[in-house]
Amino acid sequence: MISCSGSKQAQVSDTGFTPSYAFDTEKSIERFSKSIQFQTVSLEDLSEIDYEPFEEFITFLEESYPSLHSNAELQRIGEYSLLFKWKGTNPDLNPGLLMGHYDVVPVKEDAIELWSYEPFGGEIEEGFIWGRGTLDDKSGIFSVLEAVEFLIESGHQNERTFYLALHHDEEIGGLNGAKQISEFLESEGVHLEFLVDEGPPVAENIIDNIDVPLAMIGVAEKGSLNLELVYRQEGGHSSMPPRQTVISILSRAINRIERRPMDAHYNGLIKETFEPLIPYMSFTQRLAFNNTWLFSGKIKRELGKNPATNAALRTTAAKTIFEAGFKENVLPVEGRVIINFRLHPNDTIEDVVEYVRQRVNNPDIVINVMDRARNPSPVSDTRARPYQVLKQTIEDIFDQALVSPSLFVAASDSRHFHNLTDNVYRFRPIRATHDDRARVHGIDERIRVDNYLEMIQFQIELIQNLSGEL
Ligand SMILES: [Zn+2]
Repeated sequence: MISCSGSKQAQVSDTGFTPSYAFDTEKSIERFSKSIQFQTVSLEDLSEIDYEPFEEFITFLEESYPSLHSNAELQRIGEYSLLFKWKGTNPDLNPGLLMGHYDVVPVKEDAIELWSYEPFGGEIEEGFIWGRGTLDDKSGIFSVLEAVEFLIESGHQNERTFYLALHHDEEIGGLNGAKQISEFLESEGVHLEFLVDEGPPVAENIIDNIDVPLAMIGVAEKGSLNLELVYRQEGGHSSMPPRQTVISILSRAINRIERRPMDAHYNGLIKETFEPLIPYMSFTQRLAFNNTWLFSGKIKRELGKNPATNAALRTTAAKTIFEAGFKENVLPVEGRVIINFRLHPNDTIEDVVEYVRQRVNNPDIVINVMDRARNPSPVSDTRARPYQVLKQTIEDIFDQALVSPSLFVAASDSRHFHNLTDNVYRFRPIRATHDDRARVHGIDERIRVDNYLEMIQFQIELIQNLSGEL
């Protein structure tokens, strides 16, 4: 791999990890810890958001990364999102975009006491940095900021122009941040060579007796659709009820949807995801696979039993709201159910609506498509050079790691950028165990200190590897 001239040197940090670049490990950990202390919390109701910490956070960035701020053009978009343009020497190369978000989800009042350390303390204990945002997604953006600052200070010069986008409202849809940044770049006529956003981690110890980590690069993400099913009926007194009420009719509809979920797709992408692991499995492990959140890929029916593998296989339907009735002796006149669908790349919004119409099989039940429906993302090409470079960099930094493309079952801001590039990749160099999944948006979110340093090392390598002609 290309190295940064004159700046490579061994340095042992107290955590035991030895970065091969001479960045200031102590300072970078300190800055990251501090970043967690800004309560940049996104809330669905915009009027309830306290933007003071966002403003303070932006000032903190300015003070912490002076070289970035003096070498890149900074633009504030949608008030609190930041777009840096770090110019390269070769105008013939399309720019790259590294992005992430600094807003976080709230910590519920009654959950605070369940945390081992202050949720917004950024405490460094037991070899971890603790707090909301350590996994999602402040480690993502701070590792990039540290890498860029280090590269500039070491006199590194990119051939390619890089944009860095730090979004402030990813957790609530990204309409003011990512979406506006994407529109701005489009209006400037920018065509991106690639973008790298948050995504799956480097998963460790996910299968018993297989100790190779699996890094999954998200090359696609699921769509989302809320359907409202409404049924109305004449009301009346409960002493002379009809055979079926609003409640039973809607329940029957839900039951019919549940009995026959949308088709599973065990094809292309999902096969590729798990292929690299198969040689490491014993026959028994393959059989046991359906009890883990990964799978061997034998029988769709088996895979469908596990919610995590099921989500990767098909469009899922979560019944989230059911409302009907208000008084025990009055027949309800109206009932409604909301079902949240997460769309597999093989299905469209129209496919889901049609499927529901057929399953419900009752013209008197009205089916409404609610706001903010979105189709699944396109699937990015794994043969494209930026993917290959990303894969190679992961293999270089994460010893023995297997790398495979995957479907990201959550949502990310990257979905707003498909107008600018076909090469959209979602990945974070975070070492995560099965147990860490619940920490994202949950209790005791934390990241290993040495892993954070490793993330910085990764970003330094990645930027250099992506900097020239690919
Ligand atoms: Zn996130």
